[in-house]
Amino acid sequence: MNNLVTCLAVEHSHSAIAAALFVSLIGGALTISLTTRVRQAPRSQSWLWLLLAGLVGGMTAWCTHFIAMLGYDVGLPHNYDPLLTFLSLGSVIVTTTVGIFIIGNAGRSLLVEAGGAVVSLGVVLMHFIGMSGYDVPGYLVWSTPYIIACLISGMVFGMLAFSTLVRMRFRYHGLAAALLLTVSIVCVHFVSIAGLTFVPDGSIILPNSGLQTQTMVFFTIQGSGMVVVLGLSLLLLDIKNRENVRSEVRRASVHDALTGLPNRTAMGEELARLISEKGAGGIQFALAFLDVRGFKGLNDVRGHAAGDFVLSSVAARLRGSLPAGVFAARTGNDEFAILIPDLQHRGDVQRLLRRVIQEVARPASWSGQQFVVRLDAGIAVFPDDGQVSDELVARADAALLRAKRTRDVTFYDAGVDHGERRLNALALDLRRAFEDGEFQLYYQQQHLTGDRSIFGFEVLLRWFHRDYGFIPPDEFIPLAERTGFIHVLGEWVLRQAAADAVTWKNPFQVGVNVAPEQLADPNLAQIVGAVLKETGLPPERLELEITESGIVDDFHRALASIEAVKALGVKVAMDDFGTGYSSLTTLQQFPFDKIKIDRSFVAGLPHDELSAAICRSTVIISKSLGIRVLAEGVETEEQLAFLQREGCPRAQGYYFGRPKPRSEIEDLVNG
Ligand code: C2E
Ligand code: CA
Ligand code: CA
Repeated sequence: MNNLVTCLAVEHSHSAIAAALFVSLIGGALTISLTTRVRQAPRSQSWLWLLLAGLVGGMTAWCTHFIAMLGYDVGLPHNYDPLLTFLSLGSVIVTTTVGIFIIGNAGRSLLVEAGGAVVSLGVVLMHFIGMSGYDVPGYLVWSTPYIIACLISGMVFGMLAFSTLVRMRFRYHGLAAALLLTVSIVCVHFVSIAGLTFVPDGSIILPNSGLQTQTMVFFTIQGSGMVVVLGLSLLLLDIKNRENVRSEVRRASVHDALTGLPNRTAMGEELARLISEKGAGGIQFALAFLDVRGFKGLNDVRGHAAGDFVLSSVAARLRGSLPAGVFAARTGNDEFAILIPDLQHRGDVQRLLRRVIQEVARPASWSGQQFVVRLDAGIAVFPDDGQVSDELVARADAALLRAKRTRDVTFYDAGVDHGERRLNALALDLRRAFEDGEFQLYYQQQHLTGDRSIFGFEVLLRWFHRDYGFIPPDEFIPLAERTGFIHVLGEWVLRQAAADAVTWKNPFQVGVNVAPEQLADPNLAQIVGAVLKETGLPPERLELEITESGIVDDFHRALASIEAVKALGVKVAMDDFGTGYSSLTTLQQFPFDKIKIDRSFVAGLPHDELSAAICRSTVIISKSLGIRVLAEGVETEEQLAFLQREGCPRAQGYYFGRPKPRSEIEDLVNG
């Protein structure tokens, strides 16, 4: 220990120690960084990094050693044998390269430490080769314990250095590895030199061919300079290169590959930026979502290539028609977003979007096909409609949903669109509600106007929602149609109603409403047939109520369904007569058994002349076509008297009774 202190404090010049430390620190750090590159770079590049790491690492150890030797005062004349001196340099470059090669391919195995051991053993080897070229008029006497200590400390720190680099994950683990490597290099030199004694021997003559101190100073400065410059410049290049790659990756990650427009991520960032920028000044801006009308159908029918063409052409036209400063992005499959900053008037936004939509709708041709692309647009305005991103996005979405119906550029409207959101929530809740038994059948009696006796009941579905309470069928039936759940629901209504009706003592008729979606189902007749068979309800007691909209949607399929149902012996009624746009034509073309005059006409009776005329003529038509007729929505004695007078034999409405649950019609059906 004494020797080590003397060796450092007395025998070595302090400036040499400082210089040696400086070089080994810089070189150690570079070697560690380069080793990381060897491990991370793709195979094609890693060997280049390996050569560099070996060169820099080896040079570092060699320069450290010789700078220290230059500052070492032996008190005797000395020079350096050129062959051994350069052999020591060559050997350490080779061993360091081999060691780092092992580490580079070690993964996380113990080979990492093995590689570290090779690197430090190489340094030890270099040290002794170098020292054997250190010529003095005398002998060098080494102390074995110091040599062992030199070997152990060099290896332990060397192994620890690379182990830390690979296995540790704390913030400055790279720096710690570099320090450990430096300690390893420095230990090898100073620990072994501390145990070194020179025994002068006058008979030994210093060879003339030896390198003089000045030459060695030159070499070590050259070498150190090279280590620093080479390593640093390559690392800087690499860092720059990585930055480029990173920005390229970033560019790709915020751009949509098909259209080249910014993507949803970029839109989110731009929106956040605008909010923080405009928020402070209280300036308005608009977020618009645009959606290609019927895109899914187009994609399915004309193919994905056509779909891609349409999206690219929309993007190009958006880009071409939007003023500078307006941000456009593709945020979803066929969804685009536009951010319009510095908004003065809502009218301006509307005009701008209408113009853009018109531009996009110009016919475009692609591989012999013509495309006319229509966009729907929904807008939310900051800060009125929302002050945070999520809110604005949700509201622009809600506005877009409505725009698809209104077919015009649509602003978010809290009153309307909030309701829309509730509807969406309900649509998603249908199946759960059904399974939880929240649906129930109600029955409304139907009477003959003559003796006012009951001849049948209409089945009306009710939804008692656990949170929202009663939800009117006019609200949830369209939702069930939209989601397709109507098929489950409709079949259940039919089965329940039939099962119920067979238990009645009085064989009243049961009217069941059939939604347009159900009518379009080619299996409708099969389902009805199965239900009749299961429940044992005579077919003539069942009447299906169909609205005109169900027929208009798909004329041929509707006709086929109706005929198949009628073939079972089931009756078919035309519901809401008079509200469709060609009720008379429909009546002619379809084999209906009954007409139900819509309640809106009955409501005007007897004073409103038009209502009276419609009711009167409907009765006449039904008689001439031989079809039964019923008036819906009869609420007063006056209305009933009018209908009776005009020869309408059947009626239904609050006047006779409101729709009631099964339990409340017990007396009527069994009495
Ligand atoms: P709808 O088929 O025209 O049913 C008659 C509607 O008029 C019922 O409304 C009934 O409660 C109401 N109503 C009856 N008498 C009067 C009256 O005197 N005055 C007034 N103002 N209204 C009267 P509800 O139950 O709200 O049903 C609305 C619509 O929902 C039905 O119109 C029907 O189209 C549909 N719907 C109801 N249940 C079902 C069902 O099970 N399946 C299908 N597909 N649709 C159903
Ligand atoms: Ca009905
Ligand atoms: Ca009706």
